[in-house]
Amino acid sequence: MVGRARPDKESTVDKLADHGGPIISSVVVMPIFWGSVWSSGDPQNRAAALIDDLRHLMQGPYMVGLSQYRDIQAGTIHDALFDTTSTPPATFSLSDLASYVSGLIAGGRVPDFRLNSQLLYLVVTDGGTLTDNTSAGGFHFWSSIDRQTFHFAWISNADSYIASHEIIEACTDPEANGYTQPENGIEVADICEDNSDAAGDADGVVAASYWSNRDSRCILPRRVAGIDVQMDDCGVGPAMGEVSELRLSLSADPAWIEPKLPPMLMPTCKWTFDPEFVTPLTATDGTVLVVRWAEPVDIYSTRITVTVTDLEGLQITGSRMITPRTPTQAAIARKSCEIRRWLASVNRIPPFFVHKLGPDPASLPTRREIERLARATERLSAGVEALAELRRRLDA
Ligand SMILES: [Zn+2]
Repeated sequence: MVGRARPDKESTVDKLADHGGPIISSVVVMPIFWGSVWSSGDPQNRAAALIDDLRHLMQGPYMVGLSQYRDIQAGTIHDALFDTTSTPPATFSLSDLASYVSGLIAGGRVPDFRLNSQLLYLVVTDGGTLTDNTSAGGFHFWSSIDRQTFHFAWISNADSYIASHEIIEACTDPEANGYTQPENGIEVADICEDNSDAAGDADGVVAASYWSNRDSRCILPRRVAGIDVQMDDCGVGPAMGEVSELRLSLSADPAWIEPKLPPMLMPTCKWTFDPEFVTPLTATDGTVLVVRWAEPVDIYSTRITVTVTDLEGLQITGSRMITPRTPTQAAIARKSCEIRRWLASVNRIPPFFVHKLGPDPASLPTRREIERLARATERLSAGVEALAELRRRLDA
């Protein structure tokens, strides 16, 4: 007896353990561009791009996956400080960075963490080597003023991938006693940094993927655009020469973050397709597109793409390859659906008849199946005639 397939028992791999120390639950990132190099030319553009990228990451789904860790929320990006009054040395230690940040706090040049415990000072240098870990491109750490702890990070380039890595690790483990892997102390993004998908596109920004206990995998939270294709009530989909409705569907990866995402602000759509195979019957900028599929010359597959853009410039693209059925394939699928339903509606018909034509939506019945159905139907039909004759005799 074949039953309904049951999903595998859910197994989770909790690589990250909560050691109970502080976390940053709603970070305020304070970017500090250290050195006059950041105030002109290409570095200035890179600095501006980083700020823009980080704002996008904070507003989008990226941080939402962290809500599984003591409900960490998306944060904000404070207006940056461009510090042209000093130049970072070629090599520096964590303690040098801590002194540098302490000096800025003492001088009132950056907001004071004693007034906002969510502050994360993000020092950006153009290159430079950290003596504590010479291979590091970024690091996050903590220090204190008057025995009060502040959190800071350093990145060696205005790079959204390195910055996102350090920011999410500072949020989940600012003082090395928050969320880490118990065996080796490595953090939420470290677990994923050797994977091929360590860096990816999160709503248009390159960011670091990170470990999710809830999903038992590395995630890069993002919105996902999909295309739903209209089928008829027999489950028969696009067919050559026919008209279909295509509908934008928005979701997220991982799916569980979707209800926690803010809606996109006034999203607009743009559909693209190959006009050789697809003729639009409605405007190509709505959430729904009605199309006519080209008449058959040969079997063809064609890609439909939809790009959604919102008011803030967030852009998501979804696409789908579609192979319309030939008119004959569609006609067979519909006819067998019709017969199957008719048979199913007749009381006490042997399941054989119905099952010969498969489930809804049906795969195309083979020639042999149709022949067997024809023979069985002939016998049934002869039987029904005989039955009717006997009934008439009885009534007479
Ligand atoms: Zn790390």
